[in-house]
Formats: sequence, structure tokens, C-alpha cells
Amino acid sequence: MVIATQAPPPITSLRSEELREWLEAHGQPAFRARQVRGWLARGAASFEEMHDLPAGLRADLTASFRLSSLEPVTESAADRGLTSKLLYRLDGGYTVESVTMRYPRRTTLCISSQVGCPIGCPFCATGQGRFGRNLKAHEILDQALDAARRLAPTGRRLSHVVFMGMGEPMANYAAVVESVRLLADPDLLGISPRRIVVSTAGLVPRIVQLAGEKLPVTLAISLHAARDDLRDYLVPINRRYPLAELVRTARDFARTTGRRVSYEWVVLAGVNDSERDADELGKLLDPYLSHVNLIPWNPVDDTEFRGPSRDSLTRFADRIRSRGLNVTVRDTRGREADAACGQLRARAMKAELVPEGNGLEPSEGSSL
Ligand code: SAH
Ligand code: SF4
Repeated sequence: MVIATQAPPPITSLRSEELREWLEAHGQPAFRARQVRGWLARGAASFEEMHDLPAGLRADLTASFRLSSLEPVTESAADRGLTSKLLYRLDGGYTVESVTMRYPRRTTLCISSQVGCPIGCPFCATGQGRFGRNLKAHEILDQALDAARRLAPTGRRLSHVVFMGMGEPMANYAAVVESVRLLADPDLLGISPRRIVVSTAGLVPRIVQLAGEKLPVTLAISLHAARDDLRDYLVPINRRYPLAELVRTARDFARTTGRRVSYEWVVLAGVNDSERDADELGKLLDPYLSHVNLIPWNPVDDTEFRGPSRDSLTRFADRIRSRGLNVTVRDTRGREADAACGQLRARAMKAELVPEGNGLEPSEGSSL
């Protein structure tokens, strides 16, 4: 009879006290935990590489743990190598994507928090597929550690993280908050929460909870419509948490945390880009506490939606601006050659639209 041998656990799945206990049980002082984690953050590709650890410990670690829970499946590059998309296999077989975007003074990673998404927005490729499962905190962290590992030889560090990949982060709340704390851990990557954007379709109770976490992340709300009947269709969770309640909660979040909220608006030609939409948005949002990011829709197969023309996008942005709101627009069409990077990458682009003052630099692409 063949007995399947189980893969050892990823070292990142151990909490820091668990790692210290493991080290202690192997006759090692507590400070080794910090050394090991420092190596993970600096991009070590194996335990053997951690040369300031005793050889016996390196061998024990190699026998007991994997370096990461993620197995890279494919990597594709775009923008002359400035953008790279990784597809990973998780334990159990599901796959998720993450995208690294290199800019002159920062490097942003767009990460996934779930396999698929239970919200089911009709314009979104992830929403069209079946929901798989929540990612664990270490599976979210491992996306960042792997990106850091790939960046290390080029002398780049990961500076920003956006939860704009697959999934609804607020529907996997505990793991997402834990992963934010891990990303911020100075013994690991030390990415300030101010440089982390959590994007949500609007799970009101979780936004309230997040405001109480003392975690100064940037909140992005995927609005896409400023009247309930349209938003009920575009973002179905709106039927449970309608606009007035969502915007009130986001405003409270901004007041409690002192951090301006970002409102995402995927522009769908003929659906949510009319003068009426601009008026409704102007009435709904408070200019001092909000910033609107317009994102031209990135085509998804088997849907009826269309992206806006450049002119109509400019007109829509101007209309919103004339209602007193701060607006940023990203034109992604110059990069259509990279369409293979698909929707996930389009979302990562939006991260560059988050307004100044929240740790991100202003957009560097062609803003309208
Ligand atoms: N579920 C969360 C975070 C992941 S989606 C949320 O919805 O906020 C991140 C962003 O990508 C959202 O603003 C979402 O509306 C947007 N998005 C989804 N599909 C898109 C597409 N085809 N083109 C452009 N943006 C898209
Ligand atoms: Fe889920 Fe966000 Fe896609 Fe909506 S847009 S289906 S919430 S991933």
C-alpha cells in the first residue's frame, strides 16, 4: 500500500510565538525567530540560504517546513517588464493571481483574499465564476513575500499593497485583518498600513469593525452607482446594505480614522456614466472626506458591458468635478496590448489612482 506523504506546513503558517516555541524545542534561542523572519522578508529562496543560522537548524527547518504555501504556476510580464502577474496554486488545488507593478518610486502588489467571490457583480470576471474558499492570513502574506522574493535581486522593495485582486476582503475579515498586521510586522515586510488599500463592495458591519481596529489602512469603497436601483444590480450586496447606510458608514470611518475614503467607480458606457449619474454622485458624497477614482471598465468575456470612449470618460469626470468632488481617471487603453493580464491587472492599476495623502504617490500614467 502506498501511503501519501503530507507536505510539511509552510513556515509562515506559524504565529511568531509558535515559531519561537518550535525553535525552543529544537534548542534554539528566541531571537532566531526574528532572524528567520528577516530572511523571509529579504527574499531567501531556501532555508539553506539563511547563512547566519547554524547548519543543524537549517537542516531541521528544511525537513520541517516549506518556505511558502504557494506554488507558482505561471508568470506573465507586461509593460516592458514593469508589471508581472503570478498565478499560484494554493494547498488543496485552487489557484489565485497577484500582480506586481513597478513604478519609479514605489512597487505595488495587488493581492487576492478569496478564491472567486461570493458577491457576484455582473461586470466582474471574478464575480462570474464560482466561489471557492477564503484564503488564510498566511496565504495572503505569502503572495507579498513571494513578490518581495522576486523583487529582491533587482534591489526593489515592496512598498504598497492593495486588496484588489480576487475576492471580497471584508467577506474574509479576520484573515484579511490578520494579514494586514503580518504585512506591517517590522520583522517581516514592515509595510505601513497607510500603504495598504482595502477595497470593498460595501459590507457595512465589517467597515464599522475595521474602523475600530486601530489599523490606519486606506478604505476603498466600490460604489459604481449612486442610486439604489442601479447599484442593486451592479453590486448585489447593495440590496442588504443600501447606499445611504454605506456612505454614512464610510463617512464615520473617515471621521474615526482621519483617513479620506476612496470611492471606486468602474465606468460602464451607457450604464453609469450619464449626467444624471454625476449629479447623483455629487449629492451623495462629501467632498472633504472622499475621493473618486474612475476606472474604465476592462472587458470581460460573455458580458454585455462596454467600456467608455476617451471623450465620454473625460466628460463624465468633468461633470463630477463640477459637482465639487475630487476625481482621478486612469486611461488604460494605451496598455491594451497587455490585455492578457486581464481584469486583475486592471484593478491593480486603480491602486495608482488613490489620492495623495494616504501614503501612495500620485498616479504616474496618463491621467485625464
Ligand atoms: N471585491 C472588492 C475588491 C476586489 S475587486 C471590491 O469589489 O472592491 C477590486 C476592484 O476591481 C473593484 O472596484 C471592482 O469593482 C473592480 N473591477 C471588477 N471588475 C472590473 C473590470 N472588469 N474592470 C475594471 N475594474 C473592475
Ligand atoms: Fe467580488 Fe469585487 Fe468582483 Fe464584485 S467586483 S464580484 S465584490 S471581486
